[in-house]
Amino acid sequence: GHPNRKLDSHNDDDLPIFRQREKLIQAVRDNSFLVVTGETGSGKTTQLPQYLYQSGFCRHGKIGITQPRRVAAITVAQRVSQELGYDLGRQVGYQVRFDDCTSQDTVIKYMTDGCLLREILADPDLKQYSIIILDEVHERSLNTDILLGLLKRKLLQSRESLSSRSKSLKLVVMSATLETGKLSAFLADCPVFSIPGRTFSVTERFCNLIGPKDVESSVYVKEVVKVALDVHTCEPAGDILVFLTGQSEIEKACDMLYDKAESIDYRYDVHDHSVEGLLILPLYGSMPTDQQRMIFQPPPAGVRKCVVATNIAATSLTIRGIKYVVDSGFVKQLNHNFRVGLDTLEVVPISKSEAQQRAGRAGRTSSGKCFRIYSREFWEKCMPDYTIPEVQRTSLTAVILTLKCLGVHDVIRFPYLDSPEEKYILVALKQLYQCDAIDRRGHVTTLGRLMAEFPLPPGLTRALLKAASLGCEDILLPVAAMLSVENIFIRPGRPEKQQESEQKHRQLATQAGGCNDFAVLLNVFEKCKASDTPSAWCRDHWIHWRAMKSAFSVEKQLRDILIRLKQHPDFPVEKFDGSRSELLRRCLCSGYFANVARRSVGRTFCTMDGHGSVVHIHPSSALFEQEAQLDWILFHDVLVTSRVYVRTICPIRYEWVKDLLPKLHEVEPHELSSVARE
Ligand code: ADP
Ligand code: MG
Repeated sequence: GHPNRKLDSHNDDDLPIFRQREKLIQAVRDNSFLVVTGETGSGKTTQLPQYLYQSGFCRHGKIGITQPRRVAAITVAQRVSQELGYDLGRQVGYQVRFDDCTSQDTVIKYMTDGCLLREILADPDLKQYSIIILDEVHERSLNTDILLGLLKRKLLQSRESLSSRSKSLKLVVMSATLETGKLSAFLADCPVFSIPGRTFSVTERFCNLIGPKDVESSVYVKEVVKVALDVHTCEPAGDILVFLTGQSEIEKACDMLYDKAESIDYRYDVHDHSVEGLLILPLYGSMPTDQQRMIFQPPPAGVRKCVVATNIAATSLTIRGIKYVVDSGFVKQLNHNFRVGLDTLEVVPISKSEAQQRAGRAGRTSSGKCFRIYSREFWEKCMPDYTIPEVQRTSLTAVILTLKCLGVHDVIRFPYLDSPEEKYILVALKQLYQCDAIDRRGHVTTLGRLMAEFPLPPGLTRALLKAASLGCEDILLPVAAMLSVENIFIRPGRPEKQQESEQKHRQLATQAGGCNDFAVLLNVFEKCKASDTPSAWCRDHWIHWRAMKSAFSVEKQLRDILIRLKQHPDFPVEKFDGSRSELLRRCLCSGYFANVARRSVGRTFCTMDGHGSVVHIHPSSALFEQEAQLDWILFHDVLVTSRVYVRTICPIRYEWVKDLLPKLHEVEPHELSSVARE
């Protein structure tokens, strides 16, 4: 038997990877590049690092495994340390943004791809590592794609230079069974190791509850709940996995399921199997990890488990026992929207290949069923064949700054697995120029190097550094921290609770002056921090205590980075006299001046970045329905549904941005293009 088997008391299936152990270890020994592929759940993520560790690979360095998602990095590290019988954070640890759970003993380190990119900034040779494993490469996350290019260059260069140390660094790339030929071709035609998998058939059914005309509405939440309940009352035993797009939606769906499932009368129910209750479990990225762990536990006898998840359950995490998948057909995506010229979070239809991935989750342990709430017409008309890689659809600003700091000046001819369109690169260069991170010739400025040290979006970093130079970072640090954690405000799905929570949130806004969402965040942070019992304060004000705890920790970490940077002799120092409220808004202006809009007709605003897009204030803002009293506003982010909504807003004065706005038009794209080709 396999040493790890004993833990899997509720698992009577062998992982397909077990039988490949020796061959796999040998393949890693023999190659500096290797592609490993296998169905989701075959054991790649949890087992391969253990094999390499057990066969002595850690003698000359750590094994680093990247994940596109932080939840995956954390839960997998937990699982692996448990399988090996170690305490988490000792031999096996993880590092994600703002949360480092590793020690000097750590030899197997799971981390997000963003963390590894940051580590390369500090140590371009990755001296501490013997092997880097890039996992979930098929997801094509921006950071993983950039790492692929960087590590390919690095390893090929060191092959030539014969330096013995860097020669020993190995790169293993793991992926579900998609595009492996392309990966191998990219990595000097390296071998592809396929783990033969076993999957069961999945019956796929279109439920016809939504069609092409519903592509921009959110009716799918209701329909998904309906289908999940139908599955629960009509189908034989087996757990359900529901795919939705994000936290608030998932919480709403769980509330609805909970209400309705309570009223099922099992005595009169027609099903002749022993399903008596429904255990409803949400699963999304920003969820507390001890709750996430629950989704892996088998449900009590006679109870059916229903996991309501984001796309995270499509490939990063495998939940055993799933027999039914309910697919909403939608996903939340971060895109750079060229129509409005902004980075936007959009709820969009998934691709057909993504839908197949989701359906496959029902066939892991036995044959299963997938219920697609949409129609075949929706599938044909609204769903693209493949998901476009992130590098071709999101803002490249942060990664291009990283590349520039690493000395990659020609960011157009960087070895991308799929090249982004040139206009995306130009937008990024323009943004970096606008916030003074690069100069007119495309070289990183001192400020740019300081900015690259912060694990924050460039605009927010710029605002924070402005505050620090004015000596008022105490105002901006909490705001930056609050913007870096997800959903502070609890918005319950049940109407009677909704009223109560909204009233409390309004009260917090009024205390903060009523019309500045950033000031509301600051107020929540300070009030909670000053409270004797912060957790009780949160409960009382309908604030997520967990999110607040991470905000406190993030604030401290950002402060530490700032303290270190302030010792730099070139750290800028400026002076300004003004009220706290004005200081806050002025600092925000210096980072977010590209996100400025002016009141236009009715309740709409018009952006000032040259696109002149029409935007609306999102209902979650404290300024919602106060549009008539506003003139100029600044916003943090954009959500596109049937309209373009801006969220987290404050009113500003034109004089504050008057001198900054021309910067938006100062450089012509072709000017920077020659810079990029330099
Ligand atoms: P792959 O990377 O090939 O998709 P994994 O190594 O993630 O496969 O998963 C292998 C098995 O380990 C799966 O059956 C999965 O359910 C199980 N597993 C992974 N993480 C946990 C966990 N935290 N608790 C329980 N089981 C887990
Ligand atoms: Mg995996």
